[in-house]
Amino acid sequence: MKKIIILMLTISFFKFGNAQILKKEIPDKLVVLTFDDGCASHHSIVAPLLKKYKFNATFFMCEFPPNYKDSTKYMTWEQVKKLSEMGFEVANHTLSHKHINRLSKSHAIEEIRAIEAKCDSVGISKPASFAYPAYDLNAQSLEILRELNYKYARAGGKRPYNPLEDHPYLIPSWAMKTDNIELIRTAFSEAKNGNIVVITVHGVPDIEHPWVDTSPEVFKSHLEFLSRNNYKVISISDLDDYIDVDEALKTIIPDLDKPLKN
Ligand SMILES: [Zn+2]
Repeated sequence: MKKIIILMLTISFFKFGNAQILKKEIPDKLVVLTFDDGCASHHSIVAPLLKKYKFNATFFMCEFPPNYKDSTKYMTWEQVKKLSEMGFEVANHTLSHKHINRLSKSHAIEEIRAIEAKCDSVGISKPASFAYPAYDLNAQSLEILRELNYKYARAGGKRPYNPLEDHPYLIPSWAMKTDNIELIRTAFSEAKNGNIVVITVHGVPDIEHPWVDTSPEVFKSHLEFLSRNNYKVISISDLDDYIDVDEALKTIIPDLDKPLKN
């Protein structure tokens, strides 16, 4: 009897917790796709493929030094605007791909605001999401994102995102590459029981950084898999449909000791 009462109390506690942070239950097979670094292939290859499958996604923009101006490697801001007009989320990855944990507070803010200004200059609304370059972050990074009114920030860590436990500025993800098909398929299978799977992708292909490259063939096979198996594929800001982010920011204590790198 005592055990049953404890069980019932536990269940009602979780239901209460859910009611605060979750607007609705997290369905199984919910995947967030995110694309980093403003690669030219995001506009030429990725966006049309995502549209074909009716998938949404977030594109984290920076002006990657030293060759950002080379439009064979990186998107122009006019192309980024097209992504936004297609309904994709355009978000912030710092102006020059700076590891913000190594910057002074004012320099970090400058790097983040510079991308907001670039977005504004082509009529894209202020980004609500941030991705830490090289997954590098510290307590000050979280403070800055709060001050600049960001809703979500993505790191690494190769584990699913549990919106009841993971702080919205410490969203873990797996990085897709040409040579880790099995790892990513296993990751997709973890999108269940209240967990959301977030994937980081670089260029498809990535001309300048081949060590993070995903070939168009491998990328297509993942999209085909997600579509065939009825996954719902969304952007980070689409999480607003499920999560009361203000409540999550207020109530979840950030845990910087959990895996967030690689
Ligand atoms: Zn990056």
